Amino acid sequence: MLFYPLLTMISRLEKDSIGMAARVKNYFKTHKITLARRVVQILVLLGITAPFWTYFFGSSAGVIEPMFRYLPFISAPQSEMSNSGGFLELILGSVVGRVFPFLLIGLLFMITLVFGRASCGWLCPAGLFQDITGWAGEVGNVRRDMGKNGHEFLRKVKNWILIILVIILLPALFALSDDFYTDYTQTVLGDFGKNPLGFWSLDQFLSVFIPDFLVATADGGLDEFFSGVRIAQLLFYFVIIILTFYFPRFYCRYFCPYAAVSKPISHYSILTLSRNPAKCVGRKECGMCESVCPMQIRILDENFAKISGEGECILCGRCKETCPYDAIEVSAFSRRV
Ligand code: SF4
Ligand code: SF4
Repeated sequence: MLFYPLLTMISRLEKDSIGMAARVKNYFKTHKITLARRVVQILVLLGITAPFWTYFFGSSAGVIEPMFRYLPFISAPQSEMSNSGGFLELILGSVVGRVFPFLLIGLLFMITLVFGRASCGWLCPAGLFQDITGWAGEVGNVRRDMGKNGHEFLRKVKNWILIILVIILLPALFALSDDFYTDYTQTVLGDFGKNPLGFWSLDQFLSVFIPDFLVATADGGLDEFFSGVRIAQLLFYFVIIILTFYFPRFYCRYFCPYAAVSKPISHYSILTLSRNPAKCVGRKECGMCESVCPMQIRILDENFAKISGEGECILCGRCKETCPYDAIEVSAFSRRV
């Protein structure tokens, strides 16, 4: 009798721990793609993101730096166009150097044509950051869907950003002197011209702006730090980051210039997802795939043979692992593999 409450408590704890273990086991079973993606994203972040080396180890990425200059979206230091140096920076940097970047454009085209925007879903450090804020938004139950009209309107913003960048940078290709870009940016564009691509890069904001800001704060040099466009930059990304809690991948969806470049190619990518019409029970009965898609793609309005969202799909696989009927499949050339 004396031990009855104790035994009841032990029995409950035992049941709870079995329940917890079963839940963890179930999570691992049902989130294999997300877990694999996290491992890859973290390895990329720690292994080859140059600012990590620079700021945390006090050195540059050394001999491996040239390797990751050619991986889309991975930061590399010392790009002329921004302090980080993904594919787009290199392409536009090459234009500014008055060399038309056939090789870089060819590589970008081929990689995206084969893998779609998997680099956004699996490699980009800014993508990992937004996955974390989006997850926090889901846990905190603040996740929202953007209204249809707002979503369609905002999706075009990244195209306008890209067009503005090309208009700003294209004159450099036809310049007669090597100093043209420097004169042009200093006289016409001011501070913005020193770093036109970097301004639009969330990756650069997180991996360069924030560490610089922390260093300036520690050294008491904030007045100097906040010159030119930096206040605008801070306010801009503050708003964007807050919104990523409510609308997952907010920056990827609406502002990233790399997304604007890659999505028309990704729409025709070889690697893709498809939906099996024999298994899918539709939006009215289920619709779970659409409710988890961080890019807010209307998956059930897509062609069965290819889920692309007009090139917005980042191949994160959340729809696939969430589907209770196993209706979403990985495909190549719009055929199941
Ligand atoms: S989660 Fe699967 S079954 Fe449900 S609507 Fe989406 S594809 Fe169809
Ligand atoms: S359609 Fe599926 S794989 Fe593509 S972004 Fe949405 S959830 Fe991710």
